Order: sequence, then C-alpha cells, then structure tokens
Amino acid sequence: MTAIVSTQAQITKELAQTIVAQRVSHSYLFVGANQIQTNELGLWFCQALFCQNSQAGYPCLQCDYCRRIAQHDFPDVVLVQSDKQSIGVDEIRSVKLEMGQTGVESAHRACVIMGAEKLTVAAENSLLKFLEEPAGAITTILLANSTNNFLPTILSRVQIIQLAAGQDEQLTQKLHSQGYSQPDIDLIHKAHLENLVAAEDAEHFTKLKTQAQSWFKLLITNPQQAFIAVAASILPVIENRIQQQIFLSLLEWYFSQYLQQQAQQPTWHQSRRLVEQFLHAQKLWQANVSFENSLEQLALIADSIIKGS
Ligand SMILES: [Zn+2]
Repeated sequence: MTAIVSTQAQITKELAQTIVAQRVSHSYLFVGANQIQTNELGLWFCQALFCQNSQAGYPCLQCDYCRRIAQHDFPDVVLVQSDKQSIGVDEIRSVKLEMGQTGVESAHRACVIMGAEKLTVAAENSLLKFLEEPAGAITTILLANSTNNFLPTILSRVQIIQLAAGQDEQLTQKLHSQGYSQPDIDLIHKAHLENLVAAEDAEHFTKLKTQAQSWFKLLITNPQQAFIAVAASILPVIENRIQQQIFLSLLEWYFSQYLQQQAQQPTWHQSRRLVEQFLHAQKLWQANVSFENSLEQLALIADSIIKGS
C-alpha cells in the first residue's frame, strides 16, 4: 500500500469507486496545502486509471504501467511541471498539441498539471475549451495548493477534490473544550475554518451553520425567499466580518458538495452557473461590496438562472 492510500483514505476510496463505476470526470482539481501529497495523489490516480491489474479501482503499483507512471516515464500520462514562477500559455499550447495525438500505449490519456496555481490567466483561458471538450478520452488533473487563484470559469469546469488536512489534534481538543460538537469540528476541518472559528463560541457557530445550510437550500430551490431571508434571518446572527467570512466559507463548502452531486444531472449547466455566481459574489464581498448586497445580488441572479432566463 502506498502512503497516499492511508493518508487520504477517503479520497482514494472515492476515486477508486468512480473508476469502477466508470464515472471518471474529464477534469479534476486536487487541492491540498501539502504539495508532495497532492502530487502523489495525482500520480496515484493516473496509476489507478491505467493500471492493468487494478483491484476495485485501486492500482497494483507493481505492473509496468504503474511503475512507469511513478517514474514519469509513461507516454500517455503527460506531466506539466515547471520551476518557473508561472505556467504560461505556451506551455499549455504545447500540452494541448501533445494531447491531440492519440494514445500511444492505450486508448486513454491523462494530463497532469502540477503547481496549477501558477497558471497565468491567459493559460487558464487557453485550458478552458480543452477542459470542456477534450479531443477524445482525456482526463485532465490540475494539482494546486488552493482554489484562490483560479478563474471561476475553470473552477466550474473541474471536479474539485480537497485533500484532507492532517487534523490538528490540539485544535480539535481545544474546540471540544469550548463545547463544539464532533460533527461541527469535522465540518470546521473539511471547510478549513480552523483559523476563523478561534474566537467564535460553539453555540454561535452552530447558529451560523444552521443559517448557512438553510440559506443554501433556499438559494437553490426558492431564491426569492433566499433574498428576503438575507435581511430577515442572516443579518441578525452575523455581527462582524469574520462571521461573514465563516458564513461564506460554509456556503462554499455546501456548493462544492452540491456540484459533486450534480455532476451527472441534466441540470448540471444550471448548477454550474449558480456556483460561478456564488464565486463572483464572494469576490464582490472581498472587494468590499457589503455582505448584504453580495448575498442579495446572488439571490436575484439565482432566481433568473432557475427560471431559465
Ligand atoms: Zn498496476
């Protein structure tokens, strides 16, 4: 067993299951603060995709393909790795050209872009169409340390997989002693709220979470009600900018879950537009548009998306 299967047990299991179910997406974004681990997961997934002796979706790590992928010496897995400050449009063009050839050893090909947070805007734009309509059976895997530097249009076209952070035991204990429940602590880790909740009391966090959850549901089902709820239900429980940030981070987490569930649905296009608009609202808020206005605008746009206009 390779280290990544134990450190990222849940994610490797889910990826293996999508292979078995033949539900592998065109494009992924693996996000993790630990670059070594993220790169390791990227290669492991390629091994899983190509392995000749895989079991239940897990690669054998022994066969010729698995070994050559690990050594970066397998022609159907194209790796982009750059020591430079940025990955530019020329590099992406040559990858696209290379990926345009048919598979050398197999019918399927994969492209792995390491350090994808270094993609320039032009390079990201150049990737867009490729992510959307790859020429043939191609899986693209972007590996990055965060989602912050990506265009919303990229984020909405990839399946985002957030690597589990090594849970900080001390923090977990501290949260427990502050009265946080285990489900709330798990959510804090998954949504990476560790630094934000430090000053928050447990009871109030639960309130924020409940509001975020129900507002998210309203937004995707009844955006007009979501619009009204901003002033009526959300603002009364939010006292400062940190709580606004917690609320938005929770929404981001619910959106990422939602997008994964929606991947195979006929309303996928609609869901993706909603997520783009959410990311836009978050950017507005970061640019100092008021919290209230950012959410209300999002609700208005969600209404027109859902009505299909
Ligand atoms: Zn193998």
